[in-house]
Amino acid sequence: MMPGRITNWLRGEGEAEAEAVARLAAAKDAAEAANEAKTRFLASVAHEIRSPLNAIYGYAQLIERGEGKDALGAAKVIRRSAEHLAHLVEGLLDIAQVEGGAMSLTREAIRFPEFLDQLMAMLELQAQAKGLALVLERPERLPEFVHADPKRLRQVMINLLANAIKFTDHGSVTLKVDYRNQLATFTVIDTGIGIAPEDAGRIFAPFERVGGPAGERPGVGLGLAITQALVHIMGGEIRLESAPGEGSRFMVRLMLSEPLTPPSEPAPQAGAVTGYLGRERWVLLIDDEPAHLAVVCGLLEPLGFQVRSARDAASGLALAAQLQPDLVLCDVALGSENGWEVAAQLRRRHGAALRIVMLSGEAPVSEGAGTDHDGFIMKPFAFDTLIDMIESQLGIEWVRAAGAPRAAPPELAGAAALPRIIAPLAAAHCAEIERLVRIGHVRAIEAEIDRIAALAPEAVPLAERMRASLDSFDLKALANLARSVRADAA
Ligand code: ADP
Repeated sequence: MMPGRITNWLRGEGEAEAEAVARLAAAKDAAEAANEAKTRFLASVAHEIRSPLNAIYGYAQLIERGEGKDALGAAKVIRRSAEHLAHLVEGLLDIAQVEGGAMSLTREAIRFPEFLDQLMAMLELQAQAKGLALVLERPERLPEFVHADPKRLRQVMINLLANAIKFTDHGSVTLKVDYRNQLATFTVIDTGIGIAPEDAGRIFAPFERVGGPAGERPGVGLGLAITQALVHIMGGEIRLESAPGEGSRFMVRLMLSEPLTPPSEPAPQAGAVTGYLGRERWVLLIDDEPAHLAVVCGLLEPLGFQVRSARDAASGLALAAQLQPDLVLCDVALGSENGWEVAAQLRRRHGAALRIVMLSGEAPVSEGAGTDHDGFIMKPFAFDTLIDMIESQLGIEWVRAAGAPRAAPPELAGAAALPRIIAPLAAAHCAEIERLVRIGHVRAIEAEIDRIAALAPEAVPLAERMRASLDSFDLKALANLARSVRADAA
């Protein structure tokens, strides 16, 4: 080899090596950055959890010692802190779902103009409360139907509109909608405090909050992170234009295709379950919460089930031996006892013929969860969930009321039907529901409705009516119902 070519060859090899080193260094930097980001994220989560937790802890201790003079004020702080934690958990679950790739989108034909009107209706009260005009600017012609995941699209729009309202003190919030060639552009325009250019990038990161002291405007700093992630998994893009003091414009672009043929109306639903065919079935409930026992008894007895209940493991096992029930509904947490162990004993004594369904307020994590059950229901649950579970476990055929929609709530299900002792409790939940309707916090509304259902069997029809309004997204009807319950209870 000529000396010149040797030097070239050596140089070539040296360059390749240098390139490889640079590549590895870059990969290492990226891995370290990702690791640091994860550590920072976890530190932020811990920080975000700690302050409301401290408030709850501190105020609860004061009340316990009888030192808190203003117990009501303390209770409010505790409730607000608990709410903050609940939002945080919801946000984190959403983020985990998106990050873990576990979020799947539905594709439904939604009525586009109605969808937009409902959005406006949901945020109207919130805007009104701050004296802001809430405006929908849309072209006269919009497709009647578009394909979208309504829940996720709603979540994106509510996040942006609620932020616009939150960070605006005077003027207006406008949702401008354009639709051309299957491409929908939503622009949320506010006349609020605006965002400095140097902050525009980081507000999309979890827990990043800018502008004004913390606490001045409530929030956990996860909304935009979730919004951006959702827009991306929907295949769209989100952009921000803003300047301090000049308001903000968040623009979301999404392909929302128009169905070629308008979808047919949904098939009429089956009537409400009123009983079942075949021999009488026996159900044993094992739960240490009397309110819960009462609710489940109140649901199942009118359908013709023979229902017996036990409040601890020993009496549950004894009753099972005596009654030989068809189905046991067993709570996982039985005070100091463990529902999974009860299930194991039941299985050992009664074999596979006995159907065992576990109930729990927590998801069935693998640790500690047994394998001796046939079904699992997470509390709080809707009546239909229980009905579907019983059907699948006992293989029974339901008798349904003709014509009426499934789970149709009876018309006379207002506060008048509530026993006097629970009316004030229901009224308190209703006040909370009215508040949540204003901020459009659907999951929290569902939880409040479940709490009403858990008060007493007589409250279940009311809860069912509220659930029906929520399911059809008729938040106005839901708020009216809540208001009437409060008026009746007063
Ligand atoms: P949160 O609203 O819970 O604080 P977000 O992730 O939704 O969390 O928003 C992050 C931050 O971005 C907010 O704290 C705020 O500083 C800023 N921001 C979001 N939307 C707006 C807006 N419309 N106007 C001004 N600032 C905004």
